[in-house]
Amino acid sequence: MEISNRAQKLEPSVTLAASAKANALKAAGKDVLSLTVGEPDFTTPKNIQQAAIQAIESGKASYYTPSAGIKEIREAVVNYIESYYHLSYEAKNVIVTDGAKFALYLLFQAILNPNDEVIIPVPYWVSYGEQVKLAEGVPIFISCAQEKEFKVTVEQLEKARTDKTKLLILNSPSNPTGMIYSETELRKIGEWAVLHDILIVSDDIYGRLVYNGATFTPIATLSKAIQKQTIIINGVSKSYAMTGWRIGYAVGDETIISAMNDIASQSTSNPTAVSQYAAIEALSGEQETVEIMRQAFEARLNEIYPLFAALPGFKLEKPHGAFYLFPNIKETLTMCGYTDVTNWVDDLLAEAQVALVTGAGFGAPEHVRISYATDLDTLKEAVKRIKAFIEKKSIK
Ligand code: PMP
Ligand code: GLU
Repeated sequence: MEISNRAQKLEPSVTLAASAKANALKAAGKDVLSLTVGEPDFTTPKNIQQAAIQAIESGKASYYTPSAGIKEIREAVVNYIESYYHLSYEAKNVIVTDGAKFALYLLFQAILNPNDEVIIPVPYWVSYGEQVKLAEGVPIFISCAQEKEFKVTVEQLEKARTDKTKLLILNSPSNPTGMIYSETELRKIGEWAVLHDILIVSDDIYGRLVYNGATFTPIATLSKAIQKQTIIINGVSKSYAMTGWRIGYAVGDETIISAMNDIASQSTSNPTAVSQYAAIEALSGEQETVEIMRQAFEARLNEIYPLFAALPGFKLEKPHGAFYLFPNIKETLTMCGYTDVTNWVDDLLAEAQVALVTGAGFGAPEHVRISYATDLDTLKEAVKRIKAFIEKKSIK
């Protein structure tokens, strides 16, 4: 049986592929250091685990739920957004989904007609472009300079705009770069989007993970008009160490949320019930563990950033959020005799047992992505091995 054109054209997630490859080598007994997938290495906080256990034991997690999530979790999202964004929504403005990834998927399916254009600043998170294509939309990629902290400007947006432009995807703090847009930058972008009636998809999943005094400004908070023009995407995976529970959400215009809900009702039926009860506790319970984990990431960043920045040929600024480094390694590639970053990453894994993700999957083929959501010993050992690998290759 021939598989569909749609599936044939799809690029699988490079982050998940790199992590699966590293894990397979580990399972085969290889001493692999994996700095691939963006997932906190902490276990889910105890109070959240307890809420899940209680939901199972009481029997309430046994059943299907409404496809947009139970009322209590949608209300928990409303209260969370009220506390952290100071914005008012109602439960009808919220859909809870199987991870933020599926919220994005539903949004594109609900909004895009064939050939509608979606502006995606580069470097981008691996799933944006592929999900847009699955919805028969056209990703319009805008290259953002490292010298400008990889941030898109209104001038660039205006150049890319056509009468088919429907959406703009923003992700601040960014995966993979860790950069954060300032309030002034966001205000300009927001006003531009309002003026041209372009919907802003604001992927805020790393909003709680900002470091060294940096602040996260959600674009939706900048004016009533910008709020109306924005769909907020968020979830519990990153801030609460809950990647395996698969709970994300979208917040915004009721008509769009309702269309997303119709698609969810015909695809997943509902996000897993037990995970919804756990996520209610995450969003409304004590928040101290979020701060403890944030501080741990900050300490790691401060310790390992200078070590990676000193690697031969690595060019990178210190990130302000998320948990990734995204160096330009063009010079390193030349030193080592490579022209293709993916080959360099493959050989680094084969010869030095360090797994990184190729920048090619993020639209930036001179870069590699390093996740520092792992322990310091692993990170320091990885630096040593990468250095030795570069030295070995440079001598040849
Ligand atoms: N957006 C970005 C930028 C991400 O890095 C991730 C990581 N998986 C997601 C969305 C989706 O997260 P999840 O599906 O685990 O909620
Ligand atoms: N967002 C994470 C990452 O970028 C998880 C992997 C994925 O969902 O593709 O590593």
